[in-house]
Amino acid sequence: MKKSKSFFPPKNKSRQISIKWKIFLFLLGFCGVLLILLWLFQVVFLNSFYKSIKINEIKATANTIEKSINDENIATIISTVSENNDICIKVLSSSGDTIYSSHVVKGCIIHSKPTFDEKALHSEVTNNDGELFQYYNHDGYARETEPDSVQPENTQIQDKPPAEEKEKDTLIYSKTIIDANNNELILVLNSLISPVNATVNTLRVQLYYITAFMILFSVILAFIIAKWISRPIEAINESAKMLATGDYSTQFKGTGYKEIAELSDTLNFTAKELSKVELLRQELIANISHDLRTPLTLISGYAEAMRDLPDENNSENAQIIVDETKRLTTLVNDVMDISKLQTGNINVHLQPYNVTVSLSNSINRMNKMMELDGYQIDFIADREVTLTADETRISQAFYNLLTNAINYTGDDKKITVTQTIFQNPADDLTNWVKIEVADSGEGIAAEDLPYIWDRYYKVDKTHKRAVTGTGLGLSIVKSILDIHHGDYGVTSKLNEGSIFWFTLKI
Ligand code: ADP
Repeated sequence: MKKSKSFFPPKNKSRQISIKWKIFLFLLGFCGVLLILLWLFQVVFLNSFYKSIKINEIKATANTIEKSINDENIATIISTVSENNDICIKVLSSSGDTIYSSHVVKGCIIHSKPTFDEKALHSEVTNNDGELFQYYNHDGYARETEPDSVQPENTQIQDKPPAEEKEKDTLIYSKTIIDANNNELILVLNSLISPVNATVNTLRVQLYYITAFMILFSVILAFIIAKWISRPIEAINESAKMLATGDYSTQFKGTGYKEIAELSDTLNFTAKELSKVELLRQELIANISHDLRTPLTLISGYAEAMRDLPDENNSENAQIIVDETKRLTTLVNDVMDISKLQTGNINVHLQPYNVTVSLSNSINRMNKMMELDGYQIDFIADREVTLTADETRISQAFYNLLTNAINYTGDDKKITVTQTIFQNPADDLTNWVKIEVADSGEGIAAEDLPYIWDRYYKVDKTHKRAVTGTGLGLSIVKSILDIHHGDYGVTSKLNEGSIFWFTLKI
């Protein structure tokens, strides 16, 4: 396969903005939004917020007093709320005489300003539906009456030319209330609205510094976070590129955070699985090409001889061609099976079936085929057993063991198949079935025993008969039993024969 740098997929232009920059821009944007909000609330809307808070506060105080106006301790209540809220309070009779008074703010308008017309207040408040807001400059130059905003007939009374640019710093709230004797009283509350402009200026200067600092800080932070997030991703990307070139030994080292660690674990697992498939592929190609060559050479050699030499055109040579073709078919089937079984790419159809009958049928067929050559296969079964398994696959495993036994059995050409039921101590003493295939052949040396189940393992020795194995039979048996969670094994002694067995849960 051609492996080169051009192998990598083309980069997607629309996605070319790197994660580093995305995080950076995102953080910068986030910081920008925060700053805008800060500016809006701290500078632009501060005045109106402050005013509305003050208005609510003064209204709440007025309500408290109104509710308690008939209380015998009203004088104490007035002085307490007045002190607590820093609001000067007067309760006037309808004619403008002071009934209660609490003076807590130095220089407040209702207590110290002679121009504050208490006599005229009653009619002004009544004209405004019993509620009146007035804004004053603390120095008293401007006076501005602001009736309820819903009132269309806004009246503006100005004692002196208005100092429009000057922020009004005093709020006087007047309200008519009725006492227990049905007398109309006027509640006058004087609250100072601090000079907000000065505060705004201070905040503005502070915000300049905060803005500069935040931008700098977010740039640094964005770079640090972006690096921190993107570095492991870049490292994994580098390793993934190596993997794409076929380097399955690539190690993904995901450090930094959980997701990356998990991703690298997954990729390490993928690399391991890919390397297995790759190894299997290479092994298969090497072995298949080797195994295919012999029968193919024989077939083409004999076919050419039969074509060119009339003497060679006999049934013996034709039989060799037939045998070699069969061998090729077996090889191809085995290879297909093993690759399916090993990669787990196989459908297993589990269903209950009578394994004793199935084994007996296979043995009968084999006996019929082999009796001409003098082979004899005996079957001993303790009782009929029903198994839940894939009948085709189990028969295939059994058939592989049986063919091996036929290939390797001794001169008596006898093979014995035994089926027994036993309680498996390794599985809570549940009932299992054991199938043994015994031959009288030359056996397998102890040092070869651990390897015979491996793919393409063939014990290297010359047999009396021409044994045409692919080295895949036992590996297929092993894979089939693994899929069925069964067990398998062999007991063998040189020159005494072998007993291959497998067990399955009933
Ligand atoms: P093969 O197609 O070569 O038989 P297997 O995987 O079935 O491949 O077997 C692997 C090796 O195990 C064989 O090459 C053979 O040497 C040995 N073997 C298998 N079954 C027997 C047996 N019944 N008696 C002796 N040797 C056996």
